[in-house]
Amino acid sequence: MARVFNFSAGPAVLPLEVLQEVQTEMLDFAGTGMSILEMSHRAPAYEKVNSEAEADIKELLGLKDDYCVLFLGGGASLQFSMVPLNFLPQGKKGGYIITSTFSDKALQEAKKVGETKILFSSKEQGYNRVPRQEEIALDADLAYVHLTGNNTIEGTEFFDYPETGTIPLIGDLSSDILSRPIEAEKFSLIYAGAQKNIGPGGVVVVIARKEFVTGRSKSLPTMLNYEVHMENKSLYNTPPVFGVYIVGKVAKWLKRQGGLAAICERNKEKAALIYNVLDALPDFYRGYADKDSRSLMNVTFGLPTQELEERFAYEATALGLDGLKGHRSVGGLRASIYNAMPQEGCSLLADFMLKFYKEHKNC
Ligand SMILES: *Cc1c(COP(=O)(O)O)cnc(C)c1O
Repeated sequence: MARVFNFSAGPAVLPLEVLQEVQTEMLDFAGTGMSILEMSHRAPAYEKVNSEAEADIKELLGLKDDYCVLFLGGGASLQFSMVPLNFLPQGKKGGYIITSTFSDKALQEAKKVGETKILFSSKEQGYNRVPRQEEIALDADLAYVHLTGNNTIEGTEFFDYPETGTIPLIGDLSSDILSRPIEAEKFSLIYAGAQKNIGPGGVVVVIARKEFVTGRSKSLPTMLNYEVHMENKSLYNTPPVFGVYIVGKVAKWLKRQGGLAAICERNKEKAALIYNVLDALPDFYRGYADKDSRSLMNVTFGLPTQELEERFAYEATALGLDGLKGHRSVGGLRASIYNAMPQEGCSLLADFMLKFYKEHKNC
């Protein structure tokens, strides 16, 4: 079996142990004589998967009973619409911190629903950083503040979430959810497409303060109403069962790794291996993100020419370092080094970067 080191931004690498468990259970899940793919979502065996996944995610984040965890469909992109539909009443504004293409997409959807306000934008600088607290222009008539926790395409990340006082904070943490301990209680609602850091495509994890999602507009379409999903424990309709099952396994894997503090240490070491090369050879490897904003999940960088970048990605792939091509909007290269990327993958990449530099520094 030849598995590559998969640096893809998403869908992305999953823990090998999790994939092996899935393989073992595929034909006969929990002694039911059928696979989880064939089972009613009302079956006790599935309900256990659903409720354990919720409990494990809350435990990892240190959240209590005032929060719920929902498993929904529609990708993180549907959350761009659900957030304003649920939380943006007339007469108030949705506040948006624009640090990436994805934050901008969230803003564009909110504009279709109601009034918005841009609280900060690094668009002019190509989204190369996240703001400091004092750069965020808060306003009394905000219904909420929305931010993108980790900017998957550009490679920047918030490490200190802004203080928003009494204004509810909402976070798209699609690409750094469960990668390090966070002050989850700062958020009224967190959403994350699972396919970056904690599962496959097709399921979105929503973590919400119960009080926040309660008693919103009665005219919302049922499927777009968070409260409906909360009251039905994500079983209002058929949920993305296979995705929830894998997210649950990843949560248990994270607990076995020692939880978020332990995984964070490893993530920092992994990222340092690659950033150290960027910093040592700044004339050859150009880091895209401002140093203070550098993501632990997506390392973005360019080489002196596009030709070299293409060659780099091609040669890396041949060595089993796959998926390093940058997003089409930014170009260059991107190493996505989520929780499940082994340290070995990052050291091999760092070694390859040094070798590639030596071969091409005079080009
Ligand atoms: C990938 C991503 C999205 C879009 O997710 P979909 O599930 O494809 O809709 C949104 N926000 C962030 C931060 C992402 O990384």
